[in-house]
Amino acid sequence: MVKKPQRPLTVDGSTHASNPGNLLVNYFYWIRSFPRKPIQLILPLAILVVLAFLTNWIFGFALFAVLREGKSLHLIPSALFGIAVFNIFFGIGIFWFLKKLIFLAIRIREHFFYGCVNPGVVVALKPPLIAVFTDLTTGKTPHYTIKILPQPLKWMKNGVPPVGTRLATVALYEGNLRKGYWDDFYPVVVDCVTGNQTDIQRVLQSIPDWEWEHLEVGLGYLRTTKPGLYTIPFVRCAFCHQLVFLPLYPMHKDKHTKLGADGQMTDHVTIHPERRYQGVLDVVPQAYIHPNCGGITRMPEEIIRSYLVNPFLYNEYTFCCECNNYIHQKELYWCETGQCLADYFQELQQDYIRQHGDRPPNPFV
Ligand SMILES: [Zn+2]
Ligand SMILES: [Zn+2]
Repeated sequence: MVKKPQRPLTVDGSTHASNPGNLLVNYFYWIRSFPRKPIQLILPLAILVVLAFLTNWIFGFALFAVLREGKSLHLIPSALFGIAVFNIFFGIGIFWFLKKLIFLAIRIREHFFYGCVNPGVVVALKPPLIAVFTDLTTGKTPHYTIKILPQPLKWMKNGVPPVGTRLATVALYEGNLRKGYWDDFYPVVVDCVTGNQTDIQRVLQSIPDWEWEHLEVGLGYLRTTKPGLYTIPFVRCAFCHQLVFLPLYPMHKDKHTKLGADGQMTDHVTIHPERRYQGVLDVVPQAYIHPNCGGITRMPEEIIRSYLVNPFLYNEYTFCCECNNYIHQKELYWCETGQCLADYFQELQQDYIRQHGDRPPNPFV
């Protein structure tokens, strides 16, 4: 059982996180991930302590020698006074740095204990950047925001995770309560401050689905991985490419993904018409056969032009008009080339990574 701090010393006690982290910081992990501030305090503190020790040691040694020889005894009172003044200054210095260090340690502990849990996702690897979704509101109107920021993910258990990995973060908020929304928030990935996998999973599981969805559609709207704080009032629909007011998006999306009488989704995600593949499709296979049923299906052009730009846009199930169902690409073959669709898409994806060095930062780019 861990003792809860009685009241936060550094975090504003008048507001409460909707989903507090309740997370215990491992200070070793924290210093390893964010060494700048603690080292700025620990280093001068260590130097002062060593200097104080050395000065007193040298003085003690000299005093002992004087006493042993029995000469210049009249100098002792002024020497004692001198060393006392020295020690007062050292003491003040040590106390000042120590107080700052303790305050910092308390603040970090409270950040992860009282701060708010938000969903984060890796959006870039060099350097590691994450995007975090939150609602900055302090009133009733939502103020959806995404912050893109660097995080020291290299210290994670298995190194920097791939783009698209979901991570839990805990954030403190800054600003004037009466303004209606916070000015900024400071999320930190929980894996950077603890190695306790049970805690990490607990915090990750505490994030509701709608927040993950808002992060995903918010990133689709932003189409950037540049660090900054972005307001997300609307999202661009990945199906019809219209802007939709974010709180209404889940409802709007249902309209597109509803299965029709033939078992096919009403609409499919595509890339915005302006950014689709613009070349000729003469040499691109366009119809595929499902040998199990003998059915041949034509791939819609807007879908071909979308996956030629982003081969990670769709999952490995493709519709067969004869079966009226989504069939795994391993069971489908292009009529034009005889190649299995699964191999075809794997090649496209490998080409993409060879050219861009990584997967697209978010599924709709
Ligand atoms: Zn739409
Ligand atoms: Zn079929």
